[in-house]
Amino acid sequence: MAKFLEFQGKEFFKKAGIPVPEGFAVKSPEEAIDAAQKIGKPVVVKAQVHAGGRGKAGGVKLATTPEEAGKIAAEILGMEIKGLIVKQVLVEEQLDIVQEFYAGLIINSAQEVRGPVLMFSPDGGVDIESVPEDRIATLNVDVIKGLRIHDTLNMAVSMGVKGKELRQIADVVLKLYNVFRKMDCRTLEINPLVLTADGKVIAADCRMAVDDQALFRHPELGIKIGREFLKEPTDLDLIGWSFEASDFRGTSYIAEMASPEEVSKGGYVGYHGIGGGAAMLGMDALNKVGLKVADYADTSGNPTASKVYRTIKLIMSQPGIEAYFLAGFMMANQEQWHHAHGIVKALREELPKRPGFPVVLLLCGNKEKESQEILKQGLADIDARIEIYDRERVYDAKFIGGRVKALVEEYRRDTAAA
Ligand code: GDP
Ligand code: MN
Repeated sequence: MAKFLEFQGKEFFKKAGIPVPEGFAVKSPEEAIDAAQKIGKPVVVKAQVHAGGRGKAGGVKLATTPEEAGKIAAEILGMEIKGLIVKQVLVEEQLDIVQEFYAGLIINSAQEVRGPVLMFSPDGGVDIESVPEDRIATLNVDVIKGLRIHDTLNMAVSMGVKGKELRQIADVVLKLYNVFRKMDCRTLEINPLVLTADGKVIAADCRMAVDDQALFRHPELGIKIGREFLKEPTDLDLIGWSFEASDFRGTSYIAEMASPEEVSKGGYVGYHGIGGGAAMLGMDALNKVGLKVADYADTSGNPTASKVYRTIKLIMSQPGIEAYFLAGFMMANQEQWHHAHGIVKALREELPKRPGFPVVLLLCGNKEKESQEILKQGLADIDARIEIYDRERVYDAKFIGGRVKALVEEYRRDTAAA
C-alpha cells in the first residue's frame, strides 16, 4: 500500500472541501518558528511518520509561542517513533477541542463484503480497535449505488449526534467517502474528527493509504515504485521495478542494499533468493561466513524466464560483487525450468566477461531434475567457478554459505596473482 503522511493526506481533504487546520510541514526548528509566526496563534507540532499513536509516543505537542514551537520541533525532529526517525513535523493551528469523533473507511476483502466499509464513532481520539462495538456505526457501502447524505446523517444520528454539528459531520463523512473512492484508497481515516469550542467540525488527523494496484490511475501522485518499499529508490531499484511495471507474471523484487562505493570495498555477493523465507536463510548463511549482500532479489510466484533473466542481468550489473548466489532453499511450488532457462541465458552472457567468477546455484522445486539438467548442460562449457546444488542440500545453509565463501577466496587469490 502506498502510504501518505498526515500533511499529505490533509491536502486531499482540503481539495475535497473537508475542513483542516491551517498548517505547514517543516524540516527544521527555524522553519517551525516561521510557520508558527505565519499562523499567528498557538500551534500544535506533530511528528510526520508512517505510524499511528504518535500522541502517546510524545510526537504531538502544543506550543503557545513561535519560540516554544521551535523548541518542541527541535525535540520531535530526529525522535524515533515505532522504529521510524522523524524527519518532518507539521506545525498546525491549535484546536480548542470539545469532542473527538472517529470517521474512517477500509476495504474489507472478505467474501460477503468485498468493498468499502464506512465507520463512524463518537469516541474518537483513541485507537478504533479499543472502542466498544456498540459505539461504532458501520456501513458496507454499495459501490454501485454509492453513498448519499442521508446515509451519513443516519449513521451520525444512530450514534447520538445532534445539534449544529450533525449536518457538518454528515457532510465531512460523505466527502471522506468521495476522496476514498476517487483516490482508490485501501484506508482513509480521520481520528480525531474534532468539534471545536466555536462549533466547527475539523479533521485534526489523517491516515491515508492508496491501493498499489490502482497507482497507474494516479500518475499525479508521483509514486515511483508501486509496492511496499521502505527507502528512497535508487537507479538500480527503479530498473528492478520496471520489470514488474510491464509484466505481471510472477514476481521479481529487487532492492539495492549497499552503495557501489561500499560494494567496491569487497565482501559483497550478488544475491538472488527464491521466495522470502529462502531469501532470509541465504542471507543469514552469507552473513555467518562474513559475506554481505549487495542487493536483495527475489523471484517467485512462478515468474517467466524473461523476468528471471532480467533480474540476474541487473544483479550482475553491480560493479565489485565477488560472487553470484542463487538461494533457492525451499521447495518452491513453481516449475523451476523457467528459472533454469533464465539463469543459463543471463550467466552465459555475463560470465565470459569475468573468468573464474564464483557462482553457487541452489535450485529445487517442481520439475527439479529437468531444471538441474538445463543448468548443467547450459553452463558446462563456461569458464567460471560454478557449483550447482539440488534438494539434497536444502536447508543446509551452513554448507552452502561455506561454499560461496571458499569460491570467493579462490577467486580473490587468482585475481590478486594475475
Ligand atoms: P496520533 O496519536 O498519531 O493518532 O496523532 P493525532 O493527530 O490523532 O493526535 C493525538 C491527539 O492529540 C489527538 O487525539 C488530540 O487529542 C490531540 N491533539 C491533536 N491536535 C490537537 C490540537 O490542535 N489541539 C488539542 N487540544 N489537542 C490536539
Ligand atoms: Mn490520530
